[in-house]
Order: sequence, then structure tokens, then C-alpha cells
Amino acid sequence: MRLFQACAILTAPFIMTAVAAAGTDNPSAHEHGKAKGSIAVEEKTVVVELEIPSDDIFGFEHATKSKEQKDAVTKALDTLRGKTLEVINLPSENGCRATEIKVESSLEGEPKNLPKDKNQVVHSDVDIRYTFTCDKVEGLNAKLGLLKLFPRIKAVDLQVLTAKAQSKVTVTKSDTVIPL
Ligand SMILES: [Zn+2]
Repeated sequence: MRLFQACAILTAPFIMTAVAAAGTDNPSAHEHGKAKGSIAVEEKTVVVELEIPSDDIFGFEHATKSKEQKDAVTKALDTLRGKTLEVINLPSENGCRATEIKVESSLEGEPKNLPKDKNQVVHSDVDIRYTFTCDKVEGLNAKLGLLKLFPRIKAVDLQVLTAKAQSKVTVTKSDTVIPL
């Protein structure tokens, strides 16, 4: 029992660290060039979630300092919000349309979460959640266009969830097909 209590105390700060790291600003948990996420198909709904290092989207991930950097952030976020069917290509015969678009970045707007030490490296992610409603999901042949739009992204690890199966795939530039 005493041993169990000691373990519980030791693990508590560890858990808190993990929870703190789960937000958008994430000091060490990501690798530039590598995004991750999931695609879930349920009845006529397709939900795509992506977590991409800010560096892969904007070319930097520190708070914006110049107008040029602010414009780069706006332009990239406009693409992610406006070109959903280019980010993820769903064939037109399936009749899919985005019914909910959520794209979040801590680099948008006024600088926030600035480190106290200006030499400290701050990592952050762009978080995306798209919900598509389709006329039919049978024969859905999805392709990830994200890698073409943002060439700094080299690979995307995806968890694929359908009524039939759960699988993990890595999408790369040479193979952007997502088996559904
Ligand atoms: Zn980073």
C-alpha cells in the first residue's frame, strides 16, 4: 500500500505535464515535417482532424513580428478554412460538403504565449477539424492534398476509423491516398 502511494505521488506531476502539453503550444512533442491526425467515417459523415506543426504551415512558429509574417499566417489560414476539399480531396461523385470548419492557431491575431526568455524555442501546432456531410460514403476514395498545398509537410500519420475497421496509415507525398 505504501509503495502504491509513493507511485501515485511520483506519477502525479508526470500526468499534469502530459495534460499541459496537450494544448496548442507544445514545447517538445512534435517533429517538423510530420503531422498527425485522424479520419473517421460514420454513416454519411466524415470527420477529419489534423495537428500540424506551425512551422510546416507558416515557415516559422514564433509569434508574428512583421506585417509580412502576419500576412503569411492569414493567407495560410484562409487556405485551410476556404479550400477544405483541396486539403482533403473527396471525389465529387460522393457529394461531400464541409458542414463545420475549425482551424486554430496561436499565431493568429495578437502575439500570445510569448516565452519570458526570448531565446527559448516555442513550438506550436495548427489544429484542424473538418466535418463533411456526404450524399454517400460508399467507395469514398480520399486523398490528402495537404502535402501539396504545404510542401514542408513530409508525412502525416493518420488513424483511420470506419464502420468496417480501424487502421493506421502514413500518408506521404508519393502516396496521398487514404484507404477507407
Ligand atoms: Zn516546432
